[in-house]
Amino acid sequence: MDDIAIIGSGPAGYTAGIYAGRASLSPVLFEGLESGGQLMLTTDVENYPGFVDGIMGPELMQVFKGQAERFGTQIKTETIDSIEKLDNGFKLTSSKGEYLFKSVIIASGASARWLGVEGEGYQFWVYSWQAVLWVC
Ligand SMILES: Cc1cc2nc3c(=O)[nH]c(=O)nc-3n(C[C@H](O)[C@H](O)[C@H](O)COP(=O)(O)OP(=O)(O)OC[C@H]3O[C@@H](n4cnc5c(N)ncnc54)[C@H](O)[C@@H]3O)c2cc1C
Repeated sequence: MDDIAIIGSGPAGYTAGIYAGRASLSPVLFEGLESGGQLMLTTDVENYPGFVDGIMGPELMQVFKGQAERFGTQIKTETIDSIEKLDNGFKLTSSKGEYLFKSVIIASGASARWLGVEGEGYQFWVYSWQAVLWVC
């Protein structure tokens, strides 16, 4: 049985990976369908400390991922379908198999609720600046 599973590969999941890895817990992180999470859908992230000129969302997530991997986080491209509580831990099931862990961090985030209107969010690239509606 491994020490710790992390479900989700957004900022919260990778942050958990960095901390658990630094604590020598050999975390296993399940990415889910949206590798990198919601920030993969955006361009400039300007409110994240440490980046004076801002950073592109996908680039920021690549940095998060690299930092988590540096401390030993093992990343699996799988979606967890169910979690079962056992006496001594948890059983996680994906389409690729079953895994046993002593503890689980759920960092499954959210999905933006799109309005479905023209020029919305990540469609930035095909519309002009003036036509874009930001999601946050
Ligand atoms: C277009 C856009 C622009 C944004 N711009 C900014 C910005 O500039 N600044 C800012 O501060 N915030 C911004 N946000 C908000 C920011 O992206 C979120 O607050 C942040 O991503 C939340 O991080 P998280 O780790 O909690 O979850 P998320 O980023 O939502 O990641 C969730 C993760 O969980 C995984 N997951 C879900 N279910 C499962 C499962 N069953 N098994 C395995 N994995 C699973 C998904 O694959 C995903 O990797 C923006 C959001 C969007 C959509």
